[in-house]
Amino acid sequence: MKRMKKQFAVIGLGRFGGSICRELYSMGHDVLAVDNDEEKVNEYVTLATHAVQADGTDEKALKSLGIGNFEHVVVAIGDNIQASILTTLVLKDLDIPKVWVKAQNHYHQKVLEKIGADQIVHPEYDMGIRIAQNMASEKVIDHIDLSDEYSIVELLATSKVHNKSLIDLDVRAKYGVTILAIKRGEDVNVSPMPDDLIKKEDMIVVIGHKNDVRRFENEGL
Ligand code: ADP
Repeated sequence: MKRMKKQFAVIGLGRFGGSICRELYSMGHDVLAVDNDEEKVNEYVTLATHAVQADGTDEKALKSLGIGNFEHVVVAIGDNIQASILTTLVLKDLDIPKVWVKAQNHYHQKVLEKIGADQIVHPEYDMGIRIAQNMASEKVIDHIDLSDEYSIVELLATSKVHNKSLIDLDVRAKYGVTILAIKRGEDVNVSPMPDDLIKKEDMIVVIGHKNDVRRFENEGL
């Protein structure tokens, strides 16, 4: 099945916005890349569908780019908090359904919340938490927070569960978590059967309440 092609715009092509732009474009999406620095724009000519020099705070300029038709717009303006806020305001005035903004600090975040930014991200902060959690546990390979309470976690199977089936482990009853997938090298089993066996060093992807996942990690693996 061909994945739906979506339209994205990224305003600010620093390290953060630039990597979002490149990744979306390499996934085959339409990406409008905007920066007020001409050199940056030139760099992105081959890394986006269109690369345009414009100031994100300039409503007229954004309108003339047809930005009002985009469903997702990322505001990745680095240190210039004022420009980031003004750009977000302009985009929300243009009724963009999903405006993603990189926040520099807590005050920036508060203002962004007030003016209706749809998703506020703190890449350094979030990545710091993620790395700390991965460092603190040898079994946690990766994790995604779904909310404050729920997460999806990729765990390393130890010899404790070697050659045990999902029925043997009975994790849903014992821990309240669900095994979504078992990874063995390059093979990913995304709908494991109850009698599938887990091997030492498999990666087990589980979903559940964070406390339950932690209990499974500490007691079950
Ligand atoms: P980071 O490294 O956190 O991604 P940077 O400060 O390196 O942040 O990048 C921010 C980018 O945003 C720069 O390329 C800069 O030229 C661009 N930028 C700053 N102000 C504006 C603005 N008003 N309109 C468009 N782009 C802007």
